[in-house]
Amino acid sequence: MAKTIVYKFGGASVKDSNAVKNILEILRNRLRKNHVIVVSAMGKMTNLLESILIQKIEGKDYSSNSAILKEFHLGVSRDLFPKTHPIFSQIENECMRLQGVLESSSTSDDYDVLYDKVVCFGELLSTRIVMEYLCQEGMTSVWYDARQLIQTNDEFRFAKVDWAGTKRNCEKLLWPILSQFPVITQGFIAGTKDGQSTTLGREGSDFSAAILATSLGASSVTIWKDVPGVLNGDPKIFEETIKFDELGYSQAAEMTFYGASVIHPKTIKPLAQKQIPLLVRSFIDPDGEGTRIHQNANAELIPTFILKKNQILISFRVKDFTFSEEKHLRMIYTELDKLKLKVNMLQTAAISISIVIDAERFKLAQLLESLKEEFSILYNENLELLTILNGDRQLLERHIEGYDVLLEQETRHSLQVVRNRKKES
Ligand code: ASP
Ligand code: MG
Repeated sequence: MAKTIVYKFGGASVKDSNAVKNILEILRNRLRKNHVIVVSAMGKMTNLLESILIQKIEGKDYSSNSAILKEFHLGVSRDLFPKTHPIFSQIENECMRLQGVLESSSTSDDYDVLYDKVVCFGELLSTRIVMEYLCQEGMTSVWYDARQLIQTNDEFRFAKVDWAGTKRNCEKLLWPILSQFPVITQGFIAGTKDGQSTTLGREGSDFSAAILATSLGASSVTIWKDVPGVLNGDPKIFEETIKFDELGYSQAAEMTFYGASVIHPKTIKPLAQKQIPLLVRSFIDPDGEGTRIHQNANAELIPTFILKKNQILISFRVKDFTFSEEKHLRMIYTELDKLKLKVNMLQTAAISISIVIDAERFKLAQLLESLKEEFSILYNENLELLTILNGDRQLLERHIEGYDVLLEQETRHSLQVVRNRKKES
């Protein structure tokens, strides 16, 4: 049998009915029975599910957001299907199941466990709609629940993949189908051995595509995006961006490490290990060449810009007049680990340790509480972390004009600053 090909369509590529129609156009001359199509939740539906969950936990009324969620999917479907199509009752059913999960949960339930039970509905709904639409338009394809394919441990919200189990599942469950039909499945969501829903971290659908590709020994993965490929900066933020025609795995991995959002950071490693090329292409211009990420890429080292917004800079000052040392770092990292927080930048000085992390609901307060005995702690919120790879001082200067710089770091080929726009005086 021909090798599997994996395609991934993210939230923006299924954000409304026209977007779904566009997917059909992309697949029209490309879809073969050996394809696996990974689809994210539509548009901002994962955010909406998160809001519903928070409302539920805070004992607030979530009925209007639930109604918005249902109406969104019904509305998209009205544009795509005749009134009598079974998709409408499928959506009603999924929404009823979601309602059931929310109603049967209590405030004492573990937040992360409940989160994974709730947010998976975004992907379950989007894939139902895409699969039914492809079938209706003559491209028979089979829907598969990714929670039965991608097996993980029970670190809910950031579950770790059981690679051997996943490979076994893919071979046993997907091979027989893929010899006859393409398969549509969900990104982001997975399951434990005993059938509980887990997720792989926000924006994790790229990673799902890489997991499935690796497990199936695919010949390539294509991520269809709203940009022409991997650029040297987010075009929504930076002017005059340049597309990379190709990139090495390590270059791409480095960009994602610093926060380039074009590819999820965990995606590259499994593909690199199996030497499976990753193509990033535009769903707006599907015949465009895109970017090919592979082993022997010959990419120029042009300056590359990565901006992470909504950052918090926290400085821990050792209280007991000693100098900061490993044990203090360990203490901080232990607490960060417990809260599943990742350090985006670290700087140590004689009596203080500074870290930069993403702002996450509730987490800052918990972190401060757990470390207040040992350290006096200062923090600033709403900052931006700018990383420039392969740039120079002059270039950096241009990007800090009009900003206060709170922290700066330089390595052989990276420059990083934590910046805050100057207040008008
Ligand atoms: N729907 C999930 C999210 O928005 C996963 C993804 O889009 O990759 O985070
Ligand atoms: Mg998404």
